[in-house]
Amino acid sequence: MRKLDGENLLVASHNTGKIEEIANLLEPFGMNVVSARDHDLPEPEETGITFVENARLKAHAAAQATGLPALSDDSGIEVDALNGAPGVYTADWAETPDGRDFVMAMTKLWSELERVGAPLPRTARFRSTLVLAWPDGQDAVFEGKIEGQCVWPMRGEQGHGYDPMFQPDGYHITLGEMNRWEKNKISHRADAFEKFVKACF
Ligand code: IMP
Repeated sequence: MRKLDGENLLVASHNTGKIEEIANLLEPFGMNVVSARDHDLPEPEETGITFVENARLKAHAAAQATGLPALSDDSGIEVDALNGAPGVYTADWAETPDGRDFVMAMTKLWSELERVGAPLPRTARFRSTLVLAWPDGQDAVFEGKIEGQCVWPMRGEQGHGYDPMFQPDGYHITLGEMNRWEKNKISHRADAFEKFVKACF
Protein backbone atom coordinates (compact mmCIF):
# COMPACT_ATOMS: atom_id res chain seq x y z
CA MET A 1 0.00 0.00 0.00
CA ARG A 2 1.26 3.46 -0.93
CA LYS A 3 2.42 5.45 2.12
CA LEU A 4 1.81 9.07 2.99
CA ASP A 5 5.28 10.56 2.85
CA GLY A 6 4.70 14.33 2.89
CA GLU A 7 3.51 16.40 5.81
CA ASN A 8 0.41 17.93 4.34
CA LEU A 9 -2.95 16.26 4.21
CA LEU A 10 -6.10 17.89 3.00
CA VAL A 11 -9.33 16.85 4.67
CA ALA A 12 -11.84 16.95 1.84
CA SER A 13 -14.81 18.14 3.88
CA HIS A 14 -16.74 21.31 4.69
CA ASN A 15 -18.44 19.71 7.69
CA THR A 16 -16.96 21.28 10.85
CA GLY A 17 -17.86 18.32 13.09
CA LYS A 18 -16.19 15.85 10.75
CA ILE A 19 -13.12 18.03 10.13
CA GLU A 20 -12.60 18.36 13.90
CA GLU A 21 -12.95 14.62 14.46
CA ILE A 22 -10.53 13.77 11.66
CA ALA A 23 -8.02 16.39 12.85
CA ASN A 24 -8.19 14.87 16.35
CA LEU A 25 -7.67 11.38 14.97
CA LEU A 26 -4.67 12.61 12.93
CA GLU A 27 -3.08 14.54 15.80
CA PRO A 28 -0.65 11.79 16.85
CA PHE A 29 0.84 11.53 13.34
CA GLY A 30 2.24 15.04 13.14
CA MET A 31 0.52 15.79 9.83
CA ASN A 32 -0.30 19.34 8.88
CA VAL A 33 -4.04 19.10 8.38
CA VAL A 34 -5.92 21.60 6.24
CA SER A 35 -9.50 21.34 5.08
CA ALA A 36 -11.44 21.95 1.88
CA ARG A 37 -13.03 24.81 3.77
CA ASP A 38 -9.59 26.43 4.47
CA HIS A 39 -8.84 26.23 0.73
CA ASP A 40 -12.27 27.61 -0.14
CA LEU A 41 -12.91 24.67 -2.46
CA PRO A 42 -16.38 24.26 -3.91
CA GLU A 43 -18.40 21.37 -2.42
CA PRO A 44 -18.72 18.73 -5.13
CA GLU A 45 -22.23 17.43 -5.70
CA GLU A 46 -22.63 14.02 -4.08
CA THR A 47 -24.22 12.21 -7.00
CA GLY A 48 -23.10 8.69 -6.06
CA ILE A 49 -25.48 6.06 -4.74
CA THR A 50 -22.93 4.44 -2.42
CA PHE A 51 -20.68 5.80 0.33
CA VAL A 52 -17.58 4.82 -1.62
CA GLU A 53 -18.72 6.62 -4.79
CA ASN A 54 -19.37 9.84 -2.89
CA ALA A 55 -16.15 9.58 -0.89
CA ARG A 56 -14.20 9.12 -4.15
CA LEU A 57 -15.89 12.16 -5.71
CA LYS A 58 -14.91 14.37 -2.77
CA ALA A 59 -11.33 13.09 -2.35
CA HIS A 60 -10.41 13.25 -6.04
CA ALA A 61 -11.94 16.71 -6.54
CA ALA A 62 -9.92 18.06 -3.60
CA ALA A 63 -6.66 16.33 -4.61
CA GLN A 64 -6.96 17.65 -8.17
CA ALA A 65 -7.76 21.17 -7.03
CA THR A 66 -4.91 21.48 -4.53
CA GLY A 67 -2.18 19.06 -5.62
CA LEU A 68 -2.23 17.60 -2.08
CA PRO A 69 -3.16 14.10 -0.95
CA ALA A 70 -6.78 14.38 0.15
CA LEU A 71 -8.74 12.34 2.65
CA SER A 72 -12.53 12.32 2.43
CA ASP A 73 -15.18 10.68 4.56
CA ASP A 74 -18.61 9.73 3.37
CA SER A 75 -20.76 8.50 6.16
CA GLY A 76 -24.29 8.01 7.34
CA ILE A 77 -26.68 6.06 9.49
CA GLU A 78 -28.43 2.90 8.26
CA VAL A 79 -31.58 1.93 10.13
CA ASP A 80 -32.63 -1.71 9.77
CA ALA A 81 -36.40 -1.17 10.12
CA LEU A 82 -36.17 1.44 7.32
CA ASN A 83 -34.31 -0.94 5.00
CA GLY A 84 -31.05 0.93 5.48
CA ALA A 85 -32.44 4.49 5.09
CA PRO A 86 -31.36 7.23 5.32
CA GLY A 87 -27.95 5.69 4.39
CA VAL A 88 -26.15 7.77 1.75
CA TYR A 89 -28.94 10.35 2.06
CA THR A 90 -28.31 10.97 5.79
CA ALA A 91 -27.17 14.57 5.25
CA ASP A 92 -30.02 15.24 2.79
CA TRP A 93 -32.60 14.47 5.49
CA ALA A 94 -31.24 17.47 7.40
CA GLU A 95 -31.31 19.94 4.49
CA THR A 96 -33.43 23.09 4.82
CA PRO A 97 -33.33 26.31 2.77
CA ASP A 98 -31.35 27.84 5.68
CA GLY A 99 -28.79 25.05 6.09
CA ARG A 100 -28.78 21.68 7.88
CA ASP A 101 -31.12 21.08 10.80
CA PHE A 102 -30.29 17.87 12.64
CA VAL A 103 -33.01 18.19 15.25
CA MET A 104 -35.46 18.15 12.37
CA ALA A 105 -33.65 15.22 10.73
CA MET A 106 -33.64 13.17 13.95
CA THR A 107 -37.31 13.94 14.56
CA LYS A 108 -38.10 12.80 11.03
CA LEU A 109 -36.13 9.60 11.51
CA TRP A 110 -37.92 8.75 14.75
CA SER A 111 -41.33 9.59 13.18
CA GLU A 112 -40.59 7.18 10.34
CA LEU A 113 -39.75 4.45 12.86
CA GLU A 114 -43.06 5.13 14.64
CA ARG A 115 -44.95 5.19 11.36
CA VAL A 116 -43.73 1.72 10.33
CA GLY A 117 -44.23 0.41 13.90
CA ALA A 118 -40.61 -0.72 14.15
CA PRO A 119 -40.03 -3.12 17.08
CA LEU A 120 -37.51 -2.28 19.82
CA PRO A 121 -34.55 -2.21 19.77
CA ARG A 122 -34.45 -0.08 16.64
CA THR A 123 -31.11 -1.37 15.44
CA ALA A 124 -28.89 0.78 13.26
CA ARG A 125 -25.29 1.44 12.40
CA PHE A 126 -23.15 4.35 11.37
CA ARG A 127 -20.86 3.66 8.45
CA SER A 128 -17.81 5.65 7.44
CA THR A 129 -15.94 5.25 4.18
CA LEU A 130 -12.62 7.02 3.96
CA VAL A 131 -10.92 7.59 0.63
CA LEU A 132 -7.36 8.81 0.36
CA ALA A 133 -6.76 10.22 -3.12
CA TRP A 134 -3.43 11.37 -4.55
CA PRO A 135 -3.14 14.17 -7.11
CA ASP A 136 -2.01 11.61 -9.72
CA GLY A 137 -5.41 9.88 -9.54
CA GLN A 138 -4.54 6.86 -7.36
CA ASP A 139 -6.72 6.15 -4.34
CA ALA A 140 -7.29 3.78 -1.43
CA VAL A 141 -10.55 2.96 0.38
CA PHE A 142 -11.06 2.16 4.10
CA GLU A 143 -14.42 1.24 5.65
CA GLY A 144 -15.64 1.27 9.24
CA LYS A 145 -18.86 0.91 11.21
CA ILE A 146 -20.38 1.05 14.67
CA GLU A 147 -23.46 -0.97 15.62
CA GLY A 148 -26.16 0.30 17.97
CA GLN A 149 -29.75 1.44 18.16
CA CYS A 150 -31.83 4.57 17.63
CA VAL A 151 -33.25 5.95 20.89
CA TRP A 152 -35.71 8.68 21.78
CA PRO A 153 -35.80 11.35 23.11
CA MET A 154 -32.46 12.56 21.81
CA ARG A 155 -29.83 12.94 24.53
CA GLY A 156 -26.55 14.88 24.78
CA GLU A 157 -25.00 18.06 23.51
CA GLN A 158 -21.66 16.70 22.28
CA GLY A 159 -20.61 15.38 18.90
CA HIS A 160 -22.53 16.33 15.76
CA GLY A 161 -25.19 15.19 13.32
CA TYR A 162 -27.34 12.31 14.57
CA ASP A 163 -25.16 11.57 17.66
CA PRO A 164 -27.89 12.39 20.25
CA MET A 165 -30.20 9.60 19.01
CA PHE A 166 -27.62 6.83 18.56
CA GLN A 167 -26.74 4.51 21.43
CA PRO A 168 -23.84 2.19 20.63
CA ASP A 169 -24.07 -1.50 21.60
CA GLY A 170 -22.73 -2.05 25.12
CA TYR A 171 -23.44 1.55 26.24
CA HIS A 172 -26.28 3.25 28.10
CA ILE A 173 -25.34 6.68 26.78
CA THR A 174 -25.69 8.12 23.29
CA LEU A 175 -22.80 9.36 21.16
CA GLY A 176 -24.11 12.83 21.96
CA GLU A 177 -23.46 12.20 25.67
CA MET A 178 -19.95 10.87 25.08
CA ASN A 179 -16.84 13.02 25.21
CA ARG A 180 -14.80 13.18 22.04
CA TRP A 181 -12.00 10.88 23.29
CA GLU A 182 -14.47 8.15 24.12
CA LYS A 183 -16.28 8.55 20.81
CA ASN A 184 -13.01 8.56 18.89
CA LYS A 185 -12.13 5.17 20.36
CA ILE A 186 -15.25 3.40 19.16
CA SER A 187 -16.79 5.32 16.28
CA HIS A 188 -17.31 4.16 12.69
CA ARG A 189 -14.80 6.83 11.66
CA ALA A 190 -12.23 5.59 14.19
CA ASP A 191 -12.72 2.05 12.84
CA ALA A 192 -12.07 3.16 9.25
CA PHE A 193 -9.27 5.40 10.46
CA GLU A 194 -7.41 2.55 12.13
CA LYS A 195 -7.30 0.74 8.78
CA PHE A 196 -6.12 3.92 7.04
CA VAL A 197 -3.34 4.44 9.59
CA LYS A 198 -2.15 0.82 9.39
CA ALA A 199 -1.96 1.05 5.62
CA CYS A 200 -0.59 4.54 5.05
CA PHE A 201 1.79 5.47 7.89
P1 IMP B 1 -21.84 13.21 4.24
O1 IMP B 1 -20.90 12.08 4.48
O2 IMP B 1 -21.19 14.54 4.30
O3 IMP B 1 -22.68 12.99 3.02
O4 IMP B 1 -22.88 13.27 5.44
C1 IMP B 1 -22.95 12.30 6.42
C2 IMP B 1 -24.14 12.53 7.28
O5 IMP B 1 -24.16 11.56 8.32
C3 IMP B 1 -24.14 13.88 7.95
O6 IMP B 1 -25.44 14.34 8.00
C4 IMP B 1 -23.64 13.59 9.34
O7 IMP B 1 -24.12 14.45 10.30
C5 IMP B 1 -24.09 12.17 9.58
N1 IMP B 1 -23.02 11.56 10.34
C6 IMP B 1 -21.85 11.09 9.85
N2 IMP B 1 -21.03 10.72 10.86
C7 IMP B 1 -21.70 11.00 11.99
C8 IMP B 1 -21.34 10.88 13.35
O8 IMP B 1 -20.25 10.50 13.75
N3 IMP B 1 -22.30 11.24 14.22
C9 IMP B 1 -23.50 11.72 13.84
N4 IMP B 1 -23.87 11.90 12.59
C10 IMP B 1 -22.97 11.53 11.66
